[in-house]
Amino acid sequence: MSDEALSPNRVRLREVLAQLPDYKPGKPATAPPGVTAYKLSSNENPYGPLPSVLKAVDEAATTINRYPDMAVSALTQRLAEALDVPAECIATGTGSVAVLAQVVQAACDAGDEVVFAWRSFEAYPIVAQLAGAKPIMVGLDADARHRLDAMAAAITDRTRVVLVCTPNNPTGPAVHGDELERFLARVPDDVVVVVDEAYVEFVRDPEAVKGLEVWRKHPNVVVLRTFSKAYGLAGLRVGFAVAHPPVAAAIRKTATPFGVNSLAQVAAIASLDAVDELTERVESIVAERDRVVQALADQGWKLPRTDANFVWFPLGEQSSAFSGACEAVGLMVRQYGDDGVRVTIGESEANTRLLEVTEKFGAR
Ligand SMILES: *Cc1c(COP(=O)(O)O)cnc(C)c1O
Repeated sequence: MSDEALSPNRVRLREVLAQLPDYKPGKPATAPPGVTAYKLSSNENPYGPLPSVLKAVDEAATTINRYPDMAVSALTQRLAEALDVPAECIATGTGSVAVLAQVVQAACDAGDEVVFAWRSFEAYPIVAQLAGAKPIMVGLDADARHRLDAMAAAITDRTRVVLVCTPNNPTGPAVHGDELERFLARVPDDVVVVVDEAYVEFVRDPEAVKGLEVWRKHPNVVVLRTFSKAYGLAGLRVGFAVAHPPVAAAIRKTATPFGVNSLAQVAAIASLDAVDELTERVESIVAERDRVVQALADQGWKLPRTDANFVWFPLGEQSSAFSGACEAVGLMVRQYGDDGVRVTIGESEANTRLLEVTEKFGAR
């Protein structure tokens, strides 16, 4: 049905929606004839699912006429053992973005404030505004790292949640343990501090914060983790929070009932069972990252440190030209306006092709 065929519409929707970006579907990977296209725009794991994970999903598919286990009991139990935390401290959701939205919804009334660094994960301002809260964005420093002192200074009596993204998406550096402890000492203990560790498995910076250790010491800290990146289950939508009992209970209350589907539940358990195989894959992605980072440095690029599965090119007004140069050779990358371009570490051939583009483009 074409748009003209529809009657004029007078339904009243929330004003905040006008401020949110329309959903833009990611561009499908395209390449010149005879060239393989690679999608390096969503920080996905380049490896396909493990055979053991596929088998678990295949078996569970025979019962999809039934609702999933609403309490996600088996996965919660398995996570509790793997992380050595009480099961009541784990709350699952349909990806850690959904869990984050639940945290913000649970903590914020209209007009409350959510403080986070910028640039950071694009979902943050959206999640805050959808909850009726006000996003308070604190610029990164010259090394593309969080300015935690400035973030602490931005806290008011309306602040209910602070988001700390480590490593920071899209720029790459991890927050250090000592700086986060200093920061937490300045945050009122009734403000929730979310430590978003979506890329924790890729971190090799020895000074990087260890979210769970911090969580154990601070009742207001929530750690977010996901199966979408290192575990390679982005398409199934499952993530979780580790939170102290009242916060974990609040996250469960704000969940969509039966959100985490049965295939996601069994795939996540099978992935935890296959952690050695998955760790090997993570190691090879880290090795590829190190190869790319070293080659870029050799080419003369001055880029922020990355502890994630992507590299950030802070190219300002040249961002569009750079992302165009990547796409021209079949590399789909993520451009952030005139800030920069984020490129996911992908298949070895894709990474090598990226290095050809960066060489030709000229180091910045
Ligand atoms: C990818 C990502 C997530 C996880 O998203 P899912 O909803 O679990 O797929 C969370 N936080 C950040 C910063 C991310 O980049």
